[in-house]
Amino acid sequence: MYRTKTCGELRASDVNQLVTLAGWVQKTRKMGGMAFVDLRDRYGVTQLVFNQDVDASLCERANKLGREYVVQATGTVKERSNKNLHIPTGEIELIVSELTILNAAATPPFTIEDETDGGDDLRMKYRYLDLRRNVVRSNLELRHKMTIEVRRYMDSQQFIEVETPVLVSSTPEGARDFVVPSRMNPGQFYALPQSPQTLKQLLMVSGFDRYFQIVKCFRDEDLRADRQPEFTQIDCEMSFVEQDDILTMFEGLSKYLFKTIRGVEINEPFRRISWNDAMKYYGSDKPDLRFDMRFVELDDVLKGHGFSVFDNAAYVGGICAKGAASYTRKQLDALTDFVKRPQIGAKGMVYARVEEDGIKSSVDKFYTQETLQEMKKAFGAEPGDLILILSGDDVTKTRKQLCELRLEMGSQLGLRDKNKFVCLWVVDFPLLEWSEEDRRYYAMHHPFTSPKPEDIHLLDSNPGDVRANAYDMVVNGVEVGGGSIRIHDNELQQKMFRLLGFAAEQAEAQFGFLMNAFKYGAPPHGGIAYGLDRWVSLFAGLDSIRDCIAFPKNNSGRDVMLDAPSAIAQAQLDELRIAVNIPPVC
Ligand code: ASP
Repeated sequence: MYRTKTCGELRASDVNQLVTLAGWVQKTRKMGGMAFVDLRDRYGVTQLVFNQDVDASLCERANKLGREYVVQATGTVKERSNKNLHIPTGEIELIVSELTILNAAATPPFTIEDETDGGDDLRMKYRYLDLRRNVVRSNLELRHKMTIEVRRYMDSQQFIEVETPVLVSSTPEGARDFVVPSRMNPGQFYALPQSPQTLKQLLMVSGFDRYFQIVKCFRDEDLRADRQPEFTQIDCEMSFVEQDDILTMFEGLSKYLFKTIRGVEINEPFRRISWNDAMKYYGSDKPDLRFDMRFVELDDVLKGHGFSVFDNAAYVGGICAKGAASYTRKQLDALTDFVKRPQIGAKGMVYARVEEDGIKSSVDKFYTQETLQEMKKAFGAEPGDLILILSGDDVTKTRKQLCELRLEMGSQLGLRDKNKFVCLWVVDFPLLEWSEEDRRYYAMHHPFTSPKPEDIHLLDSNPGDVRANAYDMVVNGVEVGGGSIRIHDNELQQKMFRLLGFAAEQAEAQFGFLMNAFKYGAPPHGGIAYGLDRWVSLFAGLDSIRDCIAFPKNNSGRDVMLDAPSAIAQAQLDELRIAVNIPPVC
């Protein structure tokens, strides 16, 4: 037996026991005639003690142990005179009588500590060492617990986990496909699934009724902190349901996860907000509602008073930051710089401090106190509040800028507490999105999403106004999941493809299998998919989903540890009958 106990297990009640531990050397310290070694495994750290007076050569060997050596130590558990109450094993230590080096270790390129000196790139290159750190490991433990609880809940609700293939054909979710050449079918390619969307719909046609899968999905798109080229979904589909049934079922899953994973009890139903209102009041389809600070439109109040910036704008609107009237000129200038950053793109910002004796604004000379009071009323502002206003000639863009300002103010005022969770459903999304650049409509969710029955008549006359039976679940400004009720009617599905600019043959070639299946008795159905990585990182309070993925890719889509992607041998290319016409990028 390599060990009889783990390094996180021993307590004062184990004193005088003879035990064997195995693990990695975290640290060695020499003090007088004693050597102390912190031995670490996944479960914790135990202090090993070597006494020169008892066994000089053993103590000498302990002093020579390097960081991250793998060792086995047998000894007797003793109560510590100098207790460390910060760690669970801090009341005891192991007086070692036998020490075996199981494996030596090269000096690690960064310290294996909670606060490491290793930069991002280095930690990713040596990810297996990074994973030894408590902070990273505990994220993966949380992830594991979460998948177990998801399976438990889904099973309790009669969902069946079904695996779907990874080598498929294109599954349009709005990103580029990753493709895999087929050796047996030269010149032809599989696409990796952007999601199992069409397959789960087929499972409904097969009568599975309730499906789920914790599944890898692949999307070739530009990466950000919350995106990876391969990511994991909790993918679900149900038959004979309407939107409300889905929202209720998955509100149940969400509350269950909050309770079992975070110990947070949510009793009230999730708020539901229409996409239109989300955009109007928060400038985002994933508003962070841990704080309100909703937008107030000021066109009626502030236009027509000779301030040309507002007079000529298509949108004038602002937010009221409670209690922030004490912001200094310097802080306000910094906020102006913030909104003017190229990523945000506002031209400027107007502010008004609401004080006991009136309103002091940066555009005082254009407005009378009466107009400013009217504005104050529109916000319901009180003395001590700070009003911040943006304007612009594009309503959507200006709202997005105001959204950034709102989030920034929320952060500055401490209103975005990572331990507070506010969940909501955003509903009534538009079915289609017009692309000026491509002069065509795109599906806002995906082409299989059903229009609201009451809007179907608009499909021909005014497709842009058609709302979808689609919904997103948003937690603290993060879209954790989204789904829709599907089209289950062959004719309507064909019409949708036409609207999206697919020629009949093209739609047939790409999605004939689905439309054909719909001819054989497709039940009404709908579903949702959650981003597991996003959800775990939210629960773990992480800023990036990378930290809860064992072997993530960097922002250029590279695995720097495996050095993938990489060039392949000419023989392999020949076998696939592929000619690469650019020199490999090194
Ligand atoms: N397949 C969708 C997605 O990946 C989710 C769904 O509609 O169920 O976003």
